[in-house]
Amino acid sequence: MSEYILEARNLTKCFKGFTAVDDLSLEVEKGTIHALIGPNGAGKTTCFNLLTKFLSPTSGEIYFRGKDITRATAAQIANMGIVRSFQISAIFPHMTVLENVRVGLQKSVGSTFHFWKSEASLHHLNDRAMEILSEVGLDVFSETLAVHLPYGRKRALEFAATLAMDPVLMLLDEPTQGMGHEDVDRVTALIRKVASGRTVLMVEHNMSVVEGLCDRITVLQRGAVLAEGTYAEVSTNQQVMQAYMGV
Ligand code: ADP
Repeated sequence: MSEYILEARNLTKCFKGFTAVDDLSLEVEKGTIHALIGPNGAGKTTCFNLLTKFLSPTSGEIYFRGKDITRATAAQIANMGIVRSFQISAIFPHMTVLENVRVGLQKSVGSTFHFWKSEASLHHLNDRAMEILSEVGLDVFSETLAVHLPYGRKRALEFAATLAMDPVLMLLDEPTQGMGHEDVDRVTALIRKVASGRTVLMVEHNMSVVEGLCDRITVLQRGAVLAEGTYAEVSTNQQVMQAYMGV
């Protein structure tokens, strides 16, 4: 039986009379990698902003594990385990790779920050940060300043910072954007790895990444759902071919 970890029901977002997200309903099944695709201006970023409470919907509801989170704050959402991967600018460039992950771990415990001041807990913090770094293949770079990492490795560090937040549902914003083949392959393998035991919702433009990685795909057009299904289903959908692939 399918279990939806995230459900958006009739979500609408208007900006001064312009409808960016239009009566959108979306179901993300637990344990899957789900892609949100669509041409520029389709409403993908606005949808992510609604789901992570960077924006409030004009109307509609959002449920996480069956609980209505429509009026929850961004901080409450993060505490529930909905974590959005931030752009590279969120990495502290003049901190080491290890320090960057430690900051993420400290943030995830929030108000219990003082807990980390004892020596035993600092050891624990370092151990956990190193565990995360080896999960993303960055353990050998632990003492490297983030600014000196090559582009693809910076993305891996962004994942490490996301994992430090102990995510249940990860929202990934164009994780392979601006990458060459080699980095795309590395990041794709990384997403597959970190997705294990978690759920991923991602915006992705690279269709071979979507094909190789994603269990379900929702296609947006002008803020509304144009099609939903597996890659095989949406890629052969006549409307999608016309509207999105330009065929
Ligand atoms: P996508 O991520 O699919 O490219 P967006 O969600 O960024 O699409 O944008 C959807 C539409 O909403 C676009 O036409 C965009 O110009 C408009 N839009 C997004 N944010 C705002 C805003 N803050 N004010 C006005 N219009 C906006």
